[in-house]
Amino acid sequence: MRYLLAFLLLPISLLAQETATKYDLVLKGGNVIDPHNGVQAVRDVGIRDHKIAAVENHIPDSAATKVISVKGMFVTPGLLDIHTHDYAGTGLRGAYDGDNSVYPDGFTFRSCVTTVVDAGSSGWKNFPDFKDRVIDRAKTRVLAFINIVGNGMGGGGVEQNVEDMDPEATAALAKKYPDIIVGFKTAHFEGPEWTAVDRVLNAGKIAQLPVMIDFGRFRPERPYPELVTSKLRPGDISTHMYIDFIPMLDATGNVLPYLFDAKKRGIIFDVGHGGGSFVFNQAIPAVKHGFLPDSISTDLHIGSMNAGMKNMTNVMSKFLNIGMTLPDVILRSTWNPAKEIHHEELGSLTLGSVADVSVLRVEKGKFGFTDSLGGRLEGNKKLVCELTVRDGLVVWDLNGISREPWNKRTVFRPNSTWDGTLPTRR
Ligand SMILES: [Zn+2]
Repeated sequence: MRYLLAFLLLPISLLAQETATKYDLVLKGGNVIDPHNGVQAVRDVGIRDHKIAAVENHIPDSAATKVISVKGMFVTPGLLDIHTHDYAGTGLRGAYDGDNSVYPDGFTFRSCVTTVVDAGSSGWKNFPDFKDRVIDRAKTRVLAFINIVGNGMGGGGVEQNVEDMDPEATAALAKKYPDIIVGFKTAHFEGPEWTAVDRVLNAGKIAQLPVMIDFGRFRPERPYPELVTSKLRPGDISTHMYIDFIPMLDATGNVLPYLFDAKKRGIIFDVGHGGGSFVFNQAIPAVKHGFLPDSISTDLHIGSMNAGMKNMTNVMSKFLNIGMTLPDVILRSTWNPAKEIHHEELGSLTLGSVADVSVLRVEKGKFGFTDSLGGRLEGNKKLVCELTVRDGLVVWDLNGISREPWNKRTVFRPNSTWDGTLPTRR
């Protein structure tokens, strides 16, 4: 009887063991950089049910449905870009809630970005359209700062309309969509008054969320130092931190003390590279003197992507060549931005978190980088996005490292799970 029982139990226990150790995907032998968890070592990363299931010294091939060798590459949390413009498709000419925006999936995965935050392209009036048009349809995770202007970043003076800056309505929208809306934005304001800043801060106070400030036209009536040393609250974000209009360096090239004071107060400084907001004359001396970005972001739009910004990995490469270490650059592109937008479930490879993973390679060679005023920096390293995993699925694979040799394939059509192959017309 005892033997019979053992016999009956054996297959069940084997089965249980198998399901317990089986991974859908293992990224094998890469240099894992996970700043939040203090991991910086060669590890195998196991993914099961769309979640990070293991970060271990060794996961046997037999425990995985699919193994991808990423030896010599860097495995990081999915990159998180907190300044982008994604409200495309409205047909509005010359506007960031229109033709200046991009559909995120066409740009994110190829540069290892798995989450973007739209930086105020929409306001409380047109956010529902933005959500329906882009956010709900994108494979990229799209979050949003809501513009304090009800009509968002419409062209033709829409952003200058103080009458349309309604803190209550803006804050109310954030309460309606707490999973998507991470804070509020003011941008491109040209007037001499503090109205735009005051109104966005008001929305931030009502909803208890951070604000992101694009300071617009820098005017003597509202000096930038006052913004970061007294107006903003700890956790609020000053984007475009290396724009040439910010008083940053003294005559000898040292960083002005008020900027460190602001940092000490908890003000967040974000890159927001964009088309006109990043100059080496500011960034290089500032980084050398320890005024580093809290977060690295692109300000992706149709202008910046075809100019000096290009994409997330290109902006990160600039900081590598300026002298920051790779782990430092990764920290500021993953965990730091996740904290800034209060989404600490993102930006790390913590067990149980969503399987958004980036695989990067550092290419050595002779490269050039340009800034917003046409300046060029020569560099010898460049980050390349090899593989992007979003929600456990491979969504970008530059060199086909997830694939088998063509002449060894016996199955020519993907089965149940989408693996990046486009549907075939029949
Ligand atoms: Zn922007």
